[in-house]
Amino acid sequence: MSTWLLKPAELTLKGENRKNFENALIRNLKRMLNREAAAVHDPKSSPASVTIRGGRYYVHCAESEKFIVEKVLSRLIGISGWAQTNVCEKTIDSVLQACVKEGKKIFDNGMHTFKIEARRTDKSFPLDSYQLRCEGGRVVCESVDGLKVDIHNPHDIIRIEIRDKAYIYSGGKKGLGGLPVGSAGRGLLLLSGGIDSPVAGFLMACRGMSIDAIHFHTYPYTSLEAKEKVIKLAGILGSYCMGIRLYIISFTEVQARIKERSPPPWSTVLMRMAMMEAGEKTALKIKSKCLISGESLSQVASQTIENLTCIQSRIKIPVLRPLIGTDKINIIRNAQSIGTYDTSILPYEDCCVLFTPHHPILRGSNTQANELYETLELGPLIEKALENHELAEF
Ligand code: ATP
Ligand code: MG
Repeated sequence: MSTWLLKPAELTLKGENRKNFENALIRNLKRMLNREAAAVHDPKSSPASVTIRGGRYYVHCAESEKFIVEKVLSRLIGISGWAQTNVCEKTIDSVLQACVKEGKKIFDNGMHTFKIEARRTDKSFPLDSYQLRCEGGRVVCESVDGLKVDIHNPHDIIRIEIRDKAYIYSGGKKGLGGLPVGSAGRGLLLLSGGIDSPVAGFLMACRGMSIDAIHFHTYPYTSLEAKEKVIKLAGILGSYCMGIRLYIISFTEVQARIKERSPPPWSTVLMRMAMMEAGEKTALKIKSKCLISGESLSQVASQTIENLTCIQSRIKIPVLRPLIGTDKINIIRNAQSIGTYDTSILPYEDCCVLFTPHHPILRGSNTQANELYETLELGPLIEKALENHELAEF
């Protein structure tokens, strides 16, 4: 049996409502383990169990199934770190033996320096934390030729925690941090096929928000591949967000109406206004409390502060824009680390790109935007598009 130790992230800062956050974290962890297990085993078996002791979370499973646990922990929002740990009796001998085992592992992984960190919650243990560090360091150096102590800049750290049992581990991994999904209401993500919006959804999930998504396409002007790409992005996002529902809406008639009745420089802003209106209608239906978009200030013409004002001017629920102050390089880095980047850069064009005017309006007046929008008479077209939506669930 193998054991992993999980360190909760920001929820440690919570006061009276901490229990709610803890429950959400445990519920998510169990669900993800079951789901992952079902993907490789028969649907009813869970290979792993979860226990909580002394404010710490532990996952246990057979060593042969460890890849399931590691995959889940690398995607679990709400933990700051995790490590596979030895669990021993609280005797000096077994603690030091486990230190040597970890030392060998560190050396076998090509690293040459280490240090020991020790914490003793159980004060009846015969060595205090300083003595544990010294003794641990000594036996590891004696037993693993070539491995040396470096307290300032070690390649790895062997940690000893004396609690209900003794826990000894190294090679701790950084978690995604944030707050458990499901602890901060629901948001509806405007999901395009680009790089930005999946990252925006992920960031809001890291603040604890449950995510649904809505995508607008203009088939046959946009290809079926473009739609498939968005479905794939939603699937990746869903693996962090405890699942996701994706509403796919055909905006071909809306787009045609905008093209027919409005001055070309305004087309992108008006299209975005229509997306927001359709997004709000959907959000209200599915009890989402806000819209989430991947807009970033001044990234493109439609994202100047004036145009953003026009775009959200017809709706009442808040529009969250987690990327508003982020540059593209950072967004790309984020997309790479969550695994959406390679899909986002596939060459299928999104409707907004296809219909982008050569000289878009840069600082649209809100009054003019609304006057133009009203001449479009989009209400019935939007209603019809929403009624005919497709739904994909992950
Ligand atoms: P890119 O990485 O190319 O900038 P993007 O998705 O951010 O991709 P933008 O043109 O910058 O594309 O769009 C701004 C935001 O508007 C998107 O992040 C997304 O939230 C929303 N959006 C754009 N097009 C669509 C669409 N077809 N369906 C749903 N939301 C969209
Ligand atoms: Mg963008």
